Amino acid sequence: NWAPGAQKIDATSIAKPFRDEIRTQIQKLKEVGIEAPLLVGLLANSDPAAKKYAEWTGRACKADGIRYELREIDDAIDVENALRDANDDPRVHGIIVYYPIFGQVESFSGESQDDYLRDTVSHKCDVEGLCHEYRSNLYRNKRYVDYPTNSKKCVLPCTALSVVKILESCPSCYDKSKPIGRHMEGQTVTIINRSEIVGRPLAAMLANDGADVYSVDIDSIYLFRGGRLYACDGETPESCVRKSSVVVTGVPTKAYRLPSEWIQPNTTVVNVASFKNVSEDEILQIPGVTYIPMVGKVTVAMLERNLMRLFYNFHHPERQ
Ligand code: NAD
Repeated sequence: NWAPGAQKIDATSIAKPFRDEIRTQIQKLKEVGIEAPLLVGLLANSDPAAKKYAEWTGRACKADGIRYELREIDDAIDVENALRDANDDPRVHGIIVYYPIFGQVESFSGESQDDYLRDTVSHKCDVEGLCHEYRSNLYRNKRYVDYPTNSKKCVLPCTALSVVKILESCPSCYDKSKPIGRHMEGQTVTIINRSEIVGRPLAAMLANDGADVYSVDIDSIYLFRGGRLYACDGETPESCVRKSSVVVTGVPTKAYRLPSEWIQPNTTVVNVASFKNVSEDEILQIPGVTYIPMVGKVTVAMLERNLMRLFYNFHHPERQ
């Protein structure tokens, strides 16, 4: 018994048109004698979540006609060489590294070793869209890699992109009749997570689309607005969520629960975390709420879509 207008959306239905489009593109390549793109996965840990993610990617790629090769590496120290080999191999069109590998272990420069590996993935193969070039383009709202020709669109971070695609599928969140850069004008969003993988790129993307975005982390709140960042000393997670028509949760702990009473009627709530950050029973009692409990299916579709973009940008015989 849900409140009037409350709905729960299975992200599989949002992923489907993207995966159908990828299958069509691969079919068209085959018809002109071009092999499907090759995605290489590098797995160097026994983390069950990473293994599961590697399994899912392999299964989805196979179903959609993409070639996928999982390279398992026994010693984390060998990942960098395996990654550089894949970067330099002209048969490889996309690379995904399954993190965490080193976790928070720092390199000499103070960045984490995993961040260093993310920046080592060539921008021609980076299906996750997390290397320095793509991140810095995103934060400067630079949408093409080949300025000023503007024929090669940048690859975007795939988890953040999956949330954007989910919100685009909700007519109350994205108004496509407005010009590019203003589709989310008038919307206030709260994102609870400011990691470089999920929360920060997502905040930048939604602000680039015109939203006011509160980026909430454990000890700080920032407002992303119109390409600028403002510190929000007077705000609390509660005050941000109460003002928001979209709330995205990405807290990686089992114990965390977003208080349902903060969420306003007609809000769209997207749970990105692998844990349930909201009480499903409670939020579906809020009138008009749209709840998306999981985004993984769309993330994998975005990985595949990024692979196709990299292929057309850099590897297709006509682009070389
Ligand atoms: P992370 O550990 O790198 O970052 C988590 C962020 O949340 C950090 O900035 C941390 O300070 C912040 N945080 C922790 N507790 C908080 C709290 N109580 N309030 C506000 N902020 C808090 O993790 P990540 O890579 O950003 O991933 C986050 C979650 O999303 C994980 O559960 C992960 O499994 C999931 N994830 C899902 C997908 C997908 O496609 N489904 C992809 C990537 C990550």
